[in-house]
Amino acid sequence: MTTDLNNDVSARLEAAKKDYAALLEKNLKLDLTRGKPSARQLDLANDLLGLPGDHGFRAADGTDCRNYGGGQGLPELRAIFAELLQVPASQLLAQGNSSLELMHDSVVHSLLGVLPGAERRWADEERIAFLCPVPGYDRHFDLCQRFGIEMIPVALTADGPDMAEVERLVSEDAGIKGIWCVPKYSNPDGTTYSDETVRRLAAMTTAAPDFRIFWDNAYAVHHLTDEEVQVADILSACAQAGNPDRVFVFGSTSKVTLAGAGVAFFGSSEANVKWLLGHSGKRSIGPDKINHLRHVLFLRDADGVRAHMRKHREIIQPKFDVVQRVFGKQLDGLATWSQPKGGYFVTLNVPDGCAKDVVAKAKEAGIALTPAGSTHPYKDDPADSVIRIAPTFPDMAELEQAIDGVATCVRLVGYEKLTRNG
Ligand code: PMP
Repeated sequence: MTTDLNNDVSARLEAAKKDYAALLEKNLKLDLTRGKPSARQLDLANDLLGLPGDHGFRAADGTDCRNYGGGQGLPELRAIFAELLQVPASQLLAQGNSSLELMHDSVVHSLLGVLPGAERRWADEERIAFLCPVPGYDRHFDLCQRFGIEMIPVALTADGPDMAEVERLVSEDAGIKGIWCVPKYSNPDGTTYSDETVRRLAAMTTAAPDFRIFWDNAYAVHHLTDEEVQVADILSACAQAGNPDRVFVFGSTSKVTLAGAGVAFFGSSEANVKWLLGHSGKRSIGPDKINHLRHVLFLRDADGVRAHMRKHREIIQPKFDVVQRVFGKQLDGLATWSQPKGGYFVTLNVPDGCAKDVVAKAKEAGIALTPAGSTHPYKDDPADSVIRIAPTFPDMAELEQAIDGVATCVRLVGYEKLTRNG
């Protein structure tokens, strides 16, 4: 559309207005809000639902998985994910269906119990703060807000968090107890941390003796290209740097098998694992080991997981291609967007001061987007420029319409602003 027009901004605005009027007439009802797998992706794991079936209910060591107990989770499942999450199986727990739940509980237990290396409970500190690389994951920020944990934004660079800033802040401020990290294919930017970032996070001096890295490796195996990007092993890096208890590793099969019925993992030092088990043992008499067994039978080994993830890629890569193609055609020169090599999201950066208006215009046209600001602590994106796009859930035809519609809204709002500002 815009390629037929000359560079005149007002002509572009007129074209955008026409396109937007046509968009309104379509009466769409489309949703790009959450990073959910589509039904076709969930279908890939339908065979799970019939398991353990004829196999029966015994684990490799003869344990009756139907019964209570086994708080660490099924050993054979932990062995599969040990390699993928870079945590020795003996230090990796397989738990319920949600890693967010484990992050939540880790925060709560840190508030109400004394962490290894801590002088007191976090609840007894005058002030607790977390560093929040931005843009980031809204549910991390909601969790902090729920428990009155102050959030300090730090910029996410192409190599991970701005490490000079992180090192400065954690060395000066003993109130800073943690940092949220999505180290591979981050939500929403698709950023992967460099080896140097991992090394510096592991080795930096922290004023708080009980500082923890919340290493949310939600997209550890979620590649969109042949590159299959790797991240350095943070747990070993922390141990080598003399900070063995610094990191909590989280992961899950939510976007491997079934988003609502997968298995979540927690990995850390022996001391931290013992600490968590001490608390979680008060809360549960053991996880759902039948679901663990199902996952072992279905996935078989780490290569089985990789093979399964290639099937996801076949379904979702074309969707990410649609986003790149449509934005490339319509928004070149007006906005920028990430080109992730994995994960579930694309970040769209619109001109400053436009994100909220774009989301509002899209809503009027029946396209639901994640609220502007969600990618920042306190829902406050100071530049009002970041929009998170989640392309996996709609089918291809719906997605094409939705992304085209979003691009129209960006052109409308963007060119209007440029016209206003002369
Ligand atoms: N962490 C990140 C970065 C995510 O994007 C998501 C899902 N949107 C989760 C955690 C949620 O994981 P789970 O389903 O294991 O709770």
